[in-house]
Amino acid sequence: MKDYKNLINGKLVDSASGRTFENRNPANWDEVVGVFPKSTAEDLNKAIEAAKKAYPKWRAIPWPKRSEIMRKVAEIMVMKKEELSKLMTREMGKVIKETRGDTQEGIDTALYASTEGRKYYGYTLPSELPDKSCWTRRDPMGVWGLITPWNFPIAIPTWKSFPCLLSGNTAVIKPATYTPACVGELGTILQEAGVPDGVFNVVYGGGSEIGEGLLNHQDIVGISFTGSSDIGRRIGEVCGKSLKRCSLELGGKNGQVVLADADLDLALEGVLWGAFGTTGQRCTATSRCIIEAPVYDRFIDMLKAKVEALKIGNGLDEANDVGPLVSESQRESIHSYVLIGKQEGAKLITGGEPYTEGTCAQGWFYRPTVFIDVTPSMRIAQEEIFGPVLSVIKARDYKEAIEILNGTVYGLSSSIYTRDLVKAHKAIELAETGIVYINAPTIGAECHLPFGGMKNTGNGHREGGWTAYEIFTEIKTVYVDYSGTLQKAQIDTWQ
Ligand code: NAD
Ligand code: MN
Repeated sequence: MKDYKNLINGKLVDSASGRTFENRNPANWDEVVGVFPKSTAEDLNKAIEAAKKAYPKWRAIPWPKRSEIMRKVAEIMVMKKEELSKLMTREMGKVIKETRGDTQEGIDTALYASTEGRKYYGYTLPSELPDKSCWTRRDPMGVWGLITPWNFPIAIPTWKSFPCLLSGNTAVIKPATYTPACVGELGTILQEAGVPDGVFNVVYGGGSEIGEGLLNHQDIVGISFTGSSDIGRRIGEVCGKSLKRCSLELGGKNGQVVLADADLDLALEGVLWGAFGTTGQRCTATSRCIIEAPVYDRFIDMLKAKVEALKIGNGLDEANDVGPLVSESQRESIHSYVLIGKQEGAKLITGGEPYTEGTCAQGWFYRPTVFIDVTPSMRIAQEEIFGPVLSVIKARDYKEAIEILNGTVYGLSSSIYTRDLVKAHKAIELAETGIVYINAPTIGAECHLPFGGMKNTGNGHREGGWTAYEIFTEIKTVYVDYSGTLQKAQIDTWQ
């Protein structure tokens, strides 16, 4: 067990309140992973003040120099990869091969940042007038507030903080209270890599105190948020009032379509990984499987056998496929959806209850669950469940499959399994999601490509790749007139 402290102005400090909260292992609730300060408005104000003070110096450092710090961050993370991954499994629950992937995503994001700083291009355009040049550049904005969820304890915080800092901004981050330890370690790594004091600050605590405090603070220029659509709506509202920029990455209800001509073995592997990886606690998790009628029964038989063969248990054991849910309340929420599914008349073919065998009784485990004969309007086909529950829906034909795929308020990720090139390309065009996979599951984003969704999944921003840098910078348009005369742009000379 480790005692964590706020990171404010480069120093590890207790909360002014002296209050703390515990972070426990969801695979074994008796195990306390760490104790964290329960920060107050006073702590938050100090963190924001430090970030504001550090900003002018940090933004004056050339991009390529800031990039070098990001390379150092990657090097330290490589050295600590196993340690961080084990910590992540202990605080969040997902299996070790996945937490290694989560840490690796952070390393890749740092390496991407380390190259981006040497090529953060603007545009050069011709002028309407002689002896005049025009171009654009990107500049940092100030102090950002970063608010993160618990399901990707390293990857998501790095997706936000590395582009934010590389662009010349400073930041205050508030991680989810279920998974604060990974962000605590990230703060130490950034300091070790040479990020100056005050550039990156970490405070801990709940959304209603510390989260709201960030949103409402006049010195915060923008909020980057990943979490549920309900909280996202609230954040958009508050930021709208003070005209703060805000990027919102929210919920999903992702579907995998299996057409009759698909390679069914491949589609089966895809849905298993998509639906039950991370115990279904991914924003891109496959929550619906939409199967074309001719292969419906056959695919369900194949699926049931494979789901029942998944090994449930502590994520630190390499043999296990499915870890616990993050908390007791998440388990309750998932179980309540199972009861709703039964009431709605969907047919439960496997799972549907907590898993309490052996030592699993000490944690929040749940059996991988499959409902069949789900209809598109049922709540279990519409609402984000965020657990190991798959709703299987039959589609008459291709056209209906795409209608069902698009028939939710969310629009994050979709997947189509088919061997028909025409159907694949048509689906790419028609899918109302920010990410489309062909013959691959709905999960598996790469850090150098844009990530985000349409409809209620967000507000039009994309994290990942170059687009993350668009979130954290302002475009500046530059005109240089070297004619030595007053030249008027065309519109001014019309009369
Ligand atoms: P959540 O919305 O409950 O909390 C997210 C963060 O917001 C936490 O740090 C929380 O403390 C904070 N928060 C809560 N209330 C707040 C408020 N009023 N003001 C400011 N901050 C506040 O989400 P969660 O349960 O941590 O994560 C699961 C959700 O995140 C799911 O809906 C999932 O789909 C979504 N998610 C989306 C993406 C994506 O990129 N689209 C990625 C991962 C998770
Ligand atoms: Mn925890």
